[in-house]
Amino acid sequence: MSPGPVQTVLLLLCTGLSVALAASLFLKPGMGYVRWYVIAGVAASLCLDALGVWGLPGDSGLAWTGPYMAVELTGAVTWMLFSRRYARPKEQSLSPALSWFAVAAIGTAAGICAAPAGILAVRAAAQNGPVFFLSAPGFLVRCATLTVLIMSLTALEATLVNSVHGQRWRIKFTILGCFSILGSHLFTLSLGLLYHTLDTSLAPARQTGFAIGTAFLLYSSLFRGGEAPVAVSKRLARTSVVLFGAGAYLLFLGALGLAMSLTGSAGNRALLLALGIVSGVGLLTLMLSERFRRKCTRLLQHYFYKEKYDYRTQWMSFTNRISSVRSRDGLYQAVLLGFCETFGMGGAVLYLKEPGGQAMVPATVWELDHIIPPRLDSKDGLVRRLQDGLAAVDIRQGISSASEQTAAFLSESQASFAVPLLQGESLEGLILMLKPIDETEEFNQEDFDLMEALGSQANAAILNLRLAELLTQARDMEVMGKVSTFIVHDLKNLVYTLSLIVDNAKRYIQDPAFQQDMLKGLENTVSKMHVLISQLRQLPTRENLSMETADLKQLVKETFKHASLDALVFDGDTVAAEVDRSQLQKVILNLVLNAREASPAGETVRVETGFDTTPYIKVIDNGPGMSDRFISESLFQPFKTTKSKGMGIGLYQCKQIVEAHGGTIEVSSAPGVGSEFTVRLPAPDAATQLEGA
Ligand code: ADP
Repeated sequence: MSPGPVQTVLLLLCTGLSVALAASLFLKPGMGYVRWYVIAGVAASLCLDALGVWGLPGDSGLAWTGPYMAVELTGAVTWMLFSRRYARPKEQSLSPALSWFAVAAIGTAAGICAAPAGILAVRAAAQNGPVFFLSAPGFLVRCATLTVLIMSLTALEATLVNSVHGQRWRIKFTILGCFSILGSHLFTLSLGLLYHTLDTSLAPARQTGFAIGTAFLLYSSLFRGGEAPVAVSKRLARTSVVLFGAGAYLLFLGALGLAMSLTGSAGNRALLLALGIVSGVGLLTLMLSERFRRKCTRLLQHYFYKEKYDYRTQWMSFTNRISSVRSRDGLYQAVLLGFCETFGMGGAVLYLKEPGGQAMVPATVWELDHIIPPRLDSKDGLVRRLQDGLAAVDIRQGISSASEQTAAFLSESQASFAVPLLQGESLEGLILMLKPIDETEEFNQEDFDLMEALGSQANAAILNLRLAELLTQARDMEVMGKVSTFIVHDLKNLVYTLSLIVDNAKRYIQDPAFQQDMLKGLENTVSKMHVLISQLRQLPTRENLSMETADLKQLVKETFKHASLDALVFDGDTVAAEVDRSQLQKVILNLVLNAREASPAGETVRVETGFDTTPYIKVIDNGPGMSDRFISESLFQPFKTTKSKGMGIGLYQCKQIVEAHGGTIEVSSAPGVGSEFTVRLPAPDAATQLEGA
């Protein structure tokens, strides 16, 4: 039986679209290796349709049922792999279980291909073309394919639901295309499973869904495309909307089934099936359209609630959004995104007052295409209007006395509203909202009130971040001041010694005894300078440590080989750890010297090495101990010392070194009881893992 003209045209259309899609994916960078999954998935679908149209209806149709089901399964697995990678962060790799599942499914597909004709299905004569009844293995294979398809659809839906405004715009059509291809596939597959058949008369319906899907993918690749990494959380928002859509669609399908049973002819049946698929894709497109959703929310809000907005939710989502970011750029972006989502805008620009001036300069933009926002002079009409009115402005009504450049920018970027960021009565910045998603939406005083409220909230967050930055700067300056004080102090001592040598040299340079003294003096000064330099050198980081496996007990003993301290007791076991020997020796020396200085004369200081959960070194003394307050507020902080000649950088440096090793330093101490410092270090294998991470 030869394929009908409709099927041939559809198949040619699908082939053309698939080739164009493959070419466009290569011309346009941005999808990385994920594009290979799309190409493989589309190729599998094309192959499936070709087999469904030319292979199965032919005389040797039964022999093609194996390859048909194999391609069906492989295609589904490819789409599943795609759905797990598309628009997800790069570092998120496939779980090993899923990878094994994919390998097993592809292996099964190869096996199915080789299975003798008739094992999967049995041919039966039917009025509308050949129908194959599925035998048990065939039924199982198609059930597995159905499961994989559902997994793919769920993963794609999760990506879409978790995406935010700008990301969704970018990925929506790719996902819609996949929905259409996978949905039509699922539709025909589930009908087949219902009747235990592999029905070739369903091919046109599948092809229609495939053609629409490929067209969406092509559109996305040419005009939107790319990937915006979406962090997928476990909590799927808006599932109810999707369920509602799915429910409505199933009802529609039920009605369609009824219509099909009433109109028996093959042509009508194919037409109704295609209608089912087209309406499904249409419904999905509508449900995912920002404009449609905004219109629905507005209608719901208008008829069922007094206000246009659910203020509590709006407020909470805006404050959550801006309080969860730490960096300055992140905050600016979060503010703009919050405004765009709340008021249904397609883009925005944040202007902030120039430091030390009155003009407004663009701080960040959201979806502004390639237009460069100009600097706004303080005398500019827009800035003056915001400063005088202290209220949000509808730019669409026109701005008088705006400069030519500003007016051109406002009209080119389709700017619609300007919201002032106010600090009391002074204008600190402004937010321009551009390109309303629904041009017919009316904005009233309620919208302006919310804009102004969110504007002042945004301004407070921006101000907070700036103050925190200033505070950090001030602290840095304070630390710099302390560091330079102690450098100057040490340098003064060294310079004094050197100038003394120079003065005396003028008189006694010929004297051999003086020459010897002078050399000793110079040597001494040089070594002190070396110590000073080594103290000031950059603090250690994991990258500049030279790690090796060492025995901690041995290392402790070596530290005191040349400088034997009285009343020092070594204890504990031999234990291996991954360390930078010279850096760790500094830590041991520092802790022991502190303990020695704190202990009364004759009291022992104990150094213990061993392993409990990790390798450790403990330094234990019977000194005066420390209060809880001192430990929590001052210990390990730079320049906090209780000693008249102390500098308070020893323990700070110890902490940096130990943490650079991936270890911890803990203290247990109480006044009058003594102190115990414990340095914990990673075991050799844990350290290797740390490096690999
Ligand atoms: P410094 O020894 O120059 O003061 P450190 O950073 O090494 O600098 O020590 C900071 C402070 O911590 C010391 O001034 C002291 O008050 C306290 N401290 C450190 N080790 C001990 C200890 N074993 N017993 C009691 N106090 C200690």
